Amino acid sequence: MTRAKRQMQEDLKLVDMIIELVDARVPVSGRNPDIQEMGKGRGRLIILNKADLADEDRTKAWIAYYRRMGMQVLAVDARQKAELKRIRPLAEEACREKRERDAKRGIRNRTIRAMVCGIPNVGKSTFINSLAGRSMAKTGDKPGVTRGKQWIHLSGGLDLMDTPGILWPKFDDPEAGEKLAMIGSISSDVYEGEELAWKLIGFLRMSYPGALADRYHIEETPDLADADLLTGIAEKRGFVVKGGGVSTERAARVLFDEFRSGKLGRFTLDRLPEET
Ligand code: GDP
Repeated sequence: MTRAKRQMQEDLKLVDMIIELVDARVPVSGRNPDIQEMGKGRGRLIILNKADLADEDRTKAWIAYYRRMGMQVLAVDARQKAELKRIRPLAEEACREKRERDAKRGIRNRTIRAMVCGIPNVGKSTFINSLAGRSMAKTGDKPGVTRGKQWIHLSGGLDLMDTPGILWPKFDDPEAGEKLAMIGSISSDVYEGEELAWKLIGFLRMSYPGALADRYHIEETPDLADADLLTGIAEKRGFVVKGGGVSTERAARVLFDEFRSGKLGRFTLDRLPEET
């Protein structure tokens, strides 16, 4: 077991519930399956973050899907503080069973302690900062003092651990890895830039026909290969190279930039199990 995982298991002992941040563009590929086992017996609230970049209809369908599985779930843009107001009642609901058990033992109205978890870049720090606002706990900065866990006290009896749990992405599933590279949550150097761009183009023209044509004014007709579309983007953007031809490498970079920043539109890469 890695040190990070051990540390997280230790930290989990201190909390009643996990607030699991998942990128709304990859509601399955962006989850780490180990969290199920590690978080057993704890309340769970799923936050579909970066919902501003995801396909709204699909986000609604994913919310319904997780609710059907008996989970509490909320889609947000963690940069928008106002959107996080619903966290407290949902956290309470997520901990209901545990609170009922506590109540039977005479423990009432105890503060809920929660830990934010998620893979790198999903928005954990942004989420914690937005929730904490001015009540952000100061970290112990005295040299030589071992810092224990710090808690951020939110109104209404919810305490957040100030350090999030960092989950490792699903590297063992190549398709999930590709999707995470597409949204930029893992470095795409591990994959071939242009090859990944072809895959993204293939996905977009199948699931969101017209999105590429609208943005880059290129043809999307079935006789064209995905690689042809990348060349088309390079041509339209005028990425000519000395000696003739165009730079498809530059086109791939632009495509990823515009896809990741939402300029190309709002997309969700994972399909619901019933859709596949
Ligand atoms: P962490 O590694 O999980 O702590 O992720 P960060 O909080 O550092 O966020 C990674 C990047 O995503 C930053 O550039 C944030 O501004 C951005 N970000 C976080 N939440 C959102 C969101 O809901 N929507 C969008 N569009 N960007 C977000």
